[in-house]
Amino acid sequence: MKINEEGIQNDSEVLKPLKASRQTGTADTIVTINAVQVGGPDIIVIAGPCAVESQEQLFETARSVQSSGAQLLRGGAFKPRSSPYSFQGLGEEGLKLLDLIRRETGLPIVTEVMDTRQVELVAKYADLMQIGSRNMQNYPLLKEVGMCRKPVLLKRGMMASIEEFLNAAEYILSQGNENIILCERGIRTFETSTRNTLDLSAVPMLKRLSHLPVIVDPSHGTGLRWMVPSMSKAAVAVGADGLLLEVHYRPEEALCDGKQSLSLDEFDLLMVELRNIALAIGRRIA
Ligand code: PEP
Ligand code: MN
Repeated sequence: MKINEEGIQNDSEVLKPLKASRQTGTADTIVTINAVQVGGPDIIVIAGPCAVESQEQLFETARSVQSSGAQLLRGGAFKPRSSPYSFQGLGEEGLKLLDLIRRETGLPIVTEVMDTRQVELVAKYADLMQIGSRNMQNYPLLKEVGMCRKPVLLKRGMMASIEEFLNAAEYILSQGNENIILCERGIRTFETSTRNTLDLSAVPMLKRLSHLPVIVDPSHGTGLRWMVPSMSKAAVAVGADGLLLEVHYRPEEALCDGKQSLSLDEFDLLMVELRNIALAIGRRIA
């Protein structure tokens, strides 16, 4: 594959992701969300429910994951559901609950933006804006969050190659927003025993090709609660800068993704194990 001076691959006419690529000598990008640094020596853990369902569900989950050591809180207010009849999220009401619990705990919040028309509203509440797998190639949305100065959590499309993933990051970078965290969340393969195939080889590949921080989401990557701890440990061992984990105070009652959500106790235990793995590879979970 040849790249000419403009970065054009002669065979496909696809432009190389220049700003997302690691050039010789480029330092790793560290994305700072309030006081939390992603992409530095420390490994960060983002935890919380798939969707914000109620004040009780969000607050109890948030307080518990914080005491176990999570540094950011996740929770979807606008949910991309496979069926239009499934729970779609609480919308702005969910964002307001996230804001309330942020005030109480000080945890920065991560929440998904699905549409260009929601960017202004979501940016008002979120500390880190999530672009979901289904929207990784929604180019108008990528440009819109690129124009906004909030950090972006970009999830890999379920059918996206590494090159397509980095080109999606390039869309955001091209608009001047350099605060991007890449997230591997599993891809579709022929395998059906897991919800997705968690491509952990993407982590060293992305770290080699790009200077952007890389985190892993073993919840969507496996779809299976019992498998989440092993794949979380493997993700840390393979060099991920952080984890995105679904945790619910009552997983069996969750309105969304209960089967892959850890209970509060399971998350607490996992954090202890993750600290040991981090130490073994010379990193730390703050
Ligand atoms: C999520 O994080 O809840 C989510 C919908 O993830 P993905 O976009 O990776 O499916
Ligand atoms: Mn989910």
